[in-house]
Amino acid sequence: MNAEIVAVGSELLTPDHLDTNSLFLTGRLNEAGFEVHLKTIVGDSAHEITEVVQAALTRSDVVVITGGLGPTEDDVTRQAVAEALGRRLSLDAGLLENLRRRFAGRGIPMPAINDRQAFTIEGAEVLPNPNGSAPGMWIAEGTRHIALMPGPPNELKPMYDAQVAPRVAALGGGRRVVRRALRIIGMTESEVDSITAPIYSTCSSVQTTILASAGYIGLYMYQWVRSGERPEQVDSLSQAIQATLGDAVFTTSDESLEEVLGRMLRESGNTLAVAESCTSGLIGMRLTGVPGSSDYFLGGVLCYSNKVKEHLCGVPAALIQQHGAVSPEVAEALAQGVRQAIGSSIGLSVTGIAGPGGGSADKPVGLVYLGLADAKTTTHARRVIPGDRQTVRERTAAFALALLRRRLLATE
Ligand code: ATP
Ligand code: MG
Repeated sequence: MNAEIVAVGSELLTPDHLDTNSLFLTGRLNEAGFEVHLKTIVGDSAHEITEVVQAALTRSDVVVITGGLGPTEDDVTRQAVAEALGRRLSLDAGLLENLRRRFAGRGIPMPAINDRQAFTIEGAEVLPNPNGSAPGMWIAEGTRHIALMPGPPNELKPMYDAQVAPRVAALGGGRRVVRRALRIIGMTESEVDSITAPIYSTCSSVQTTILASAGYIGLYMYQWVRSGERPEQVDSLSQAIQATLGDAVFTTSDESLEEVLGRMLRESGNTLAVAESCTSGLIGMRLTGVPGSSDYFLGGVLCYSNKVKEHLCGVPAALIQQHGAVSPEVAEALAQGVRQAIGSSIGLSVTGIAGPGGGSADKPVGLVYLGLADAKTTTHARRVIPGDRQTVRERTAAFALALLRRRLLATE
């Protein structure tokens, strides 16, 4: 069975707005056994929407349409879909009453233009919208089906799950896609590809994609299974790749690196403090984005200037003078110093040249040193990171988290 998504909204054709609804919908449709074979983005133009919907009905079992159900002149999806089906729109008195009550509940009279949200397409089942004023619709047209839903993601997602998912599942016949995802650090995309390609070429029933995103490589595997069938191929492929890549794989369950680190820190009973010079807070921000991070993350110092490196992180002025602020010696002293100042079991530090200025022949832009100290050992790592200022800062933060993971793995 195949499905098609139509995202309506002129804003989705500008450089400012991305159609993210279709990513959510594709995941859900796949789980229900539908392959999404086409997506269209169309502006708020009634005749274009009509054309797209008519074409969609000739080739797709399910057509999911989002957006343009609002109360304003430019929201024309309702009329355009009615036109595509050759059906009438009629006022649903119950819906109108609900709308009025909804506005009254907020203490405001309903604007007259909202009336149009109470119009439904002949023969449609109305899908209630607890999070907004525009109801959705489910429409059968011969063997094809249309789901019509509002554009705002906080309205669409709950409506899909509560109303559309059960209807779609009933059509799908139990066929579904099973997805396995590996997240990998410490390797480039081409390294991962050259190692894994020979493994997955032996497994033709599994689709694979590899994607480099911020800070990690994602390897995604999909297998379609019939009702009751076990996803054996995708599971054995995923296991074979994990065995080959070893601990470069940091998660198999879509977790972020900071979530994984949080678990490792908590389980090992460690606490962490950071001294961040060129990243000035990026590492702390990522780590504290995880709920419950106060269990293991104690705090940090944004030691941007040498004065702060000296006064708050205890780095001797002479050391900075002798080796420079961006040096292995200072990175190690920062890690030890912040660990002591804050009283954590581990100290992590970063010092580097984010650019675009400040580089020299022996210390180029992108040069970073990381320090890592615990009660027994202090180490450092060096890297030259290409890219602009923001890229250098973000990659440095990712590199620091990767280094911390290495240490925690080694002491497990
Ligand atoms: P409303 O009653 O809010 O007008 P609507 O169904 O008319 O609902 P739109 O006007 O099309 O929805 O979109 C409202 C907002 O929802 C958009 O500004 C945008 O932020 C978001 N939105 C719409 N479509 C999408 C999409 N495909 N992906 C992500 N966000 C979307
Ligand atoms: Mg709108």
